[in-house]
Amino acid sequence: MNHVPRSIRRFARRFTDAGHELYIVGGAVRDGLLGRTVTDYDFATSATPDEVQRLFRRTIPTGVQHGTVTVLFEGSQFEVTTYRVDGTYADHRHPDAVHFTRSLDEDLARRDLTINAIAMDPASGRIHDPHGGREDLRRRLVRTVGDPDTRFGEDALRMLRAVRFATALEFDVDPALRAAVARHHAEITTVAAERVLQEFEKMMAASRPSTGWRLLRDTHLLEDLIPELLEGDRPPAGAAAVDGLFDHLVASCDCAPRDHATLRWAALFHDLAKPRCSGHDDRGRHFHGHDERSAEMATAILTRLRASRERIEGVRHLVRHHMFGVHGDSTDAAIRRFVSRVGTTAAADLLVLRRADICGKTGAPPTDPGLLRLEERVTAACREGHALTVRDLAVNGRDLMTELRISPGPIVGILLDELLETVLDNPEQNTRDQLLTIARRFADSRLDTQTADDGGS
Ligand code: ATP
Ligand code: MG
Repeated sequence: MNHVPRSIRRFARRFTDAGHELYIVGGAVRDGLLGRTVTDYDFATSATPDEVQRLFRRTIPTGVQHGTVTVLFEGSQFEVTTYRVDGTYADHRHPDAVHFTRSLDEDLARRDLTINAIAMDPASGRIHDPHGGREDLRRRLVRTVGDPDTRFGEDALRMLRAVRFATALEFDVDPALRAAVARHHAEITTVAAERVLQEFEKMMAASRPSTGWRLLRDTHLLEDLIPELLEGDRPPAGAAAVDGLFDHLVASCDCAPRDHATLRWAALFHDLAKPRCSGHDDRGRHFHGHDERSAEMATAILTRLRASRERIEGVRHLVRHHMFGVHGDSTDAAIRRFVSRVGTTAAADLLVLRRADICGKTGAPPTDPGLLRLEERVTAACREGHALTVRDLAVNGRDLMTELRISPGPIVGILLDELLETVLDNPEQNTRDQLLTIARRFADSRLDTQTADDGGS
């Protein structure tokens, strides 16, 4: 493991000088031993939360009932948790009681995975590893501390954490662990949606989330969490099987950029409703409306998982529009219309989604020159400065009301939309004079029943 920062050694000495133990535990030790950069240090100590709070001037009682105190030390925030033993678990998730202990070994024994149950003494760098975590890091294996059936029976979230770590670290899963998940999968429903989502989001940041989604399917956890993903193979009443749908969705998910979670979710869900939209006509099989229905299903799933509004709306929008029809040889006006309809950010994202979709089918990034041309043209349409929304028009609603002497009301919006349509076709008409002329003409033909207002507003 890379050396321990000096401030952490000074931090540790405060504890040892007072007769307490302090160890680095959890992710920092695991990631350090894997040679990854460590930014986030968690500490375990023999000192009680009271004792920790007395050792430092500035502390925050983050989760004192669980033994966690945040210490502000030399400009850093360190989370320190008192060694603890969890009591019995009546609800598969929360221990009925938490007991503090002075024994590091007891604390390590309550941790979920061997690779997360390694402690390091900050002063000497000495490793304490009673459960063979280092050996599992070498073997690239995710294994529970102790018997997996017992550990999952205590806390069902651990099943999902095991899948997430296997996916993020690209490790194998111990066969006994896998078998135990298959026995305990139904208990995952006791875990709060927020915690489930948190693990999913971490899984989505892995190089290949498909590993996780497959693992979730094979261990039956997916049936309890996102059964919609399984409908291609097991269509519900009224739907039809769609061969290879699951594989296509998870492969598309891998192909979407790792640092763009909304796009990865959109890729995962883009064709979700195909089984429910399957139909036949004289031209063969079709999935009419699957974009809209998939967007609805994605919204329902992410809402159920208590995702943020921003995430839900972003995914819904991309899934809804993923079947866009513009191509490399579309007219400039058609391309502007597309960008105008979906928005500039989404237009770029939809092209990335299309790439992921193709890559999820063929296994390789697309090389189709038509798609490359479309990407260039959409980028150009976003940059060239032509009006793409009513806000970009050379007149606004107030101008129309004043110049055409109409009162506020829906007609103003209708006129602005009409002007935008005109300008999307002919950007050179986006001048005040031309737009007012067009608006007058349009209003005259449409406003026969509407009386002109005296005051103009
Ligand atoms: P990362 O922060 O990178 O997700 P981490 O290992 O630090 O990984 P945390 O969720 O921060 O994970 O938890 C810190 C440590 O607490 C873990 O390494 C593990 O030892 C222990 N732990 C966390 N959740 C559980 C759990 N549900 N059951 C048992 N031990 C757990
Ligand atoms: Mg952590």
